[in-house]
This record gives sequence, structure tokens and C-alpha cells, in this order.
Amino acid sequence: MSRLNHRISQRIAHTKISEGYCLICGQYGSLSWDHVPPKGAIAITRVEQRHITEMMGTNAKKIKGIRSRNGSKFRTICHNCNNNHIGNCDQEVATVFNFLSSKVKTYFECASSPHNFVSENVNATKFARAMIGHILAATSVNECLRAPQETPYFTPLQKFVLGDDKAIQHTHNIYYWFYPYTKHLSAKILSFWNNGNLSVVSLLSFFPIAFMVVEKGTATYPAHARQLKLNDSKLYLDLSSRGFEFAEFPFHGLKGDQMMALSDQMAIVSYPIGQ
Ligand SMILES: [Zn+2]
Repeated sequence: MSRLNHRISQRIAHTKISEGYCLICGQYGSLSWDHVPPKGAIAITRVEQRHITEMMGTNAKKIKGIRSRNGSKFRTICHNCNNNHIGNCDQEVATVFNFLSSKVKTYFECASSPHNFVSENVNATKFARAMIGHILAATSVNECLRAPQETPYFTPLQKFVLGDDKAIQHTHNIYYWFYPYTKHLSAKILSFWNNGNLSVVSLLSFFPIAFMVVEKGTATYPAHARQLKLNDSKLYLDLSSRGFEFAEFPFHGLKGDQMMALSDQMAIVSYPIGQ
């Protein structure tokens, strides 16, 4: 009989803090817990968190995730950003995810739909504001120890979450597609190389939507993805099986001339346990 020698996820070194710089507004002060995925958009259950890089390779089964009894959480933003800037838009995310979840389930249970897509009304600006806010929050608390600096990638995203509707119009594009899995994926930033093109990517994926932000002009995205414009009034998910192979993009398993560079602590997976 052999016993697996379990090792705790490195995520443990990135969760303990009480005060620091808010990763959205940059103010120093007491930090609050942000649920990612947000409360209301999913059922809050017991979960484990670990770095996505710990899901890869032969040692993946030997790593124990960090447990939480009430959802995947990140203590990296201030109360004002959490409750007001993101909080005011979270209802839009909750409504869209709940309606689309039940439409997707009905689609696969009935299997009689003449179309291979489902759709739902959306206020795209509110939806994107909350989703980007959660992407900025879902990372290591160690980022909160350093005074904020302007960067061409993150500063427009922060301004957008803080209420500037035009902050990302020249800097970022948003894509989304059907995500059929129970695992929740987040990546604050990573670089993805695909056949000679380098893209900088941020991602938040949980059933039934993968939501990805990319630098404008360097877009790499799955073929069945759609672009989200901030004045869109509807979301469409293509449910055809041709998309499944790339649903976990960019964590779908690299193919051909593809490479990825990321910091372990900035890409996190959480998944329900004990169900
Ligand atoms: Zn803040």
C-alpha cells in the first residue's frame, strides 16, 4: 500500500492580507473579499482553489487545493470598489448567467431546437464592468503590497471599472463563447503565442460563458467566439460541439505553433467539492 504524499497548493502563499493597495482604485486601506465568480451568478458552494499551472503535468493529483466553505474569494480590493463599482453591476452578471444557464440546460435536455445557439438580453457595459472588475481582483494578495503604477494594459481596465465607459475603446477588445464546464477559470494576464501572433489576454470563465479581454489589434480567440461591443443589447452563445475543443482556451492544451507565458499566481482555477 502506498500513500500519496499530498502537497498544499502554492496558492496558500497568496491569500493572507488585511490592508493594502486596492487593485482597482489604488487607494491604501482595509481590503474586502471579492467572490470570483460573483455571488448570484453561481450557486456558492464549498470549493477548492489552486493555480492553473498546478492542474498540468504528472504531479497534478498530488496537490491539495485551498478550501473555502463559501465560494472562491480574493481579498484584493477595497470596500468601495467591491460594493459600489463592481457591486452595482454584479446583478447584470447574475441575471445573464442565470437565464443563459437555464436556456443551455433546456437546449441539451430537449435537443429539439432548430438553432444551435441561445441568446439573452444584456447591458453590455454593466456586464463587462463587473466581469473586468473580478478579473482584476482574482490574483495574489502580494500585488496589494506594492504602490500602484500606470500600465498601458491595466490602467484603462481600472478606469473602465471605476466608471469611465470610454476608457477601453482604443485599447482592448472583448470576446466570449460557450463554456460547458463546472471548473471556474481566471487569468489576470497572460501572453499567448499563436502561429506568429502574440496576444496579451485576461480571462474569466465559468458556466456557461468564457469572457476574455485582449489588447486591441492582437486578437487571438476561438473560432466560435463572438465579440462583445459595449453597446450590445444581446449575448449569443453558439452551443455546437465544434467549440468544445477550444472551450477552455487558452488552457485547452497547446497545439502546433502555440506557446503561453504566465505567472503562476495570476491564473487560478476553483471547482466545487463534496457534491
Ligand atoms: Zn478600490
